[in-house]
Amino acid sequence: MKTISPNSTIGIFGSGQLGRMFAIEASKMGYRVHTFSPDSNSPTGQAADAETAASYDDLDAVRKFARSVDVITFEFENVPSATVEAAAQFVDVHPKGEILHTTQNRLREKTFLAGNGFPVTPFRHIRTLDELKNAVDEIGTPCVLKTAGFGYDGKGQAKIVSADDLEAAFAAMKGNDAVLEAFVDFEKEVSVVCARGQDGEFAHYGIIENEHKNHILDVSFAPAIVSEKVYAEGVEIARNIAEKFSYVGTMCVEFFLTSGGDLLVNEIAPRPHNSGHLTFGPCVTSQFEQQVRAVCGLPLGSTAFYRPAAMANLLGDVWANGEPNWAAAMKDPDVKIHLYGKTDPRPGRKMGHITTTANDAALAAEAAATARNNLI
Ligand code: AMP
Repeated sequence: MKTISPNSTIGIFGSGQLGRMFAIEASKMGYRVHTFSPDSNSPTGQAADAETAASYDDLDAVRKFARSVDVITFEFENVPSATVEAAAQFVDVHPKGEILHTTQNRLREKTFLAGNGFPVTPFRHIRTLDELKNAVDEIGTPCVLKTAGFGYDGKGQAKIVSADDLEAAFAAMKGNDAVLEAFVDFEKEVSVVCARGQDGEFAHYGIIENEHKNHILDVSFAPAIVSEKVYAEGVEIARNIAEKFSYVGTMCVEFFLTSGGDLLVNEIAPRPHNSGHLTFGPCVTSQFEQQVRAVCGLPLGSTAFYRPAAMANLLGDVWANGEPNWAAAMKDPDVKIHLYGKTDPRPGRKMGHITTTANDAALAAEAAATARNNLI
């Protein structure tokens, strides 16, 4: 296990809010952070010590970046494999490039999960309209067609309810490889945010419950309202996925919980996750600090919650009528406002979030939603 000491420089691919919160935690511990992405004055760059704005395909820039840092991690999984390989010639990269390669494509991810016995909804690889017709016959309706690569927050998805939807759904994939999934009639969506150290140490935040609006995460709270059996199974699945990958860093497994009480893995995020924002403040160690500890070869921290916690996302829509009323939201002294330094509040864009704590998670969720309403 290689320990990277404070005052060293951690490189991070990607420059969004996850990298920003990572940089805040890393600098608290005395590390320098250098972010690499195509953007400048980015959410991460504002909180980092150095920012390289270059294309991921500019391998000369990638090599120069890799030579200037002591270890590299990610906050964005769609970094091309060639970029990771070029960087890995100079410095350790956590998690490994092959994990990114698997998780950045739904087909590879689902094939990995099913092949290793993890529970997933039935799926098929779709390249042609004929394949789609046959797969819909096999899987049945309703089902969801998703682009295999570069999809998030419901982008690149089309629901198929009847044969009439097939052509439009296929056209929406714009010629890209796709995955057809059986639609899951889920009771709720939950996630397990966890971390694995270089020596195999594993830590998790239990089960987090997630509510989505328009396919985008809206509110999360922890602990989730689930049975002990579901709790144990979710944590065990996350642990086994991390183990199978020999994962190093923070990871999130997103699940559907069916009305029958079964967990199905929807997605793996090979990085800190939006549902884990509620660990930043309400927990002894945030998901971002765990990432710093794991990639720097340090022991993981306690995942204990000081109190049950909740998070409400702030999308650009909150700015529709001008500057939000921050004071009104913060009248509740348990409300914490996190903003990502983005200046263009477009509808649907993640601009920040609110966290709250309370004596129980449902109350915390209610307080977060109320504070958000008070902004407008
Ligand atoms: P994804 O981008 O795959 O995480 O999907 C975004 C959201 O769409 C999920 O969080 C679910 O709310 C919904 N969704 C995606 N796939 C399915 C499915 N197979 N069955 C039911 N809902 C789904």
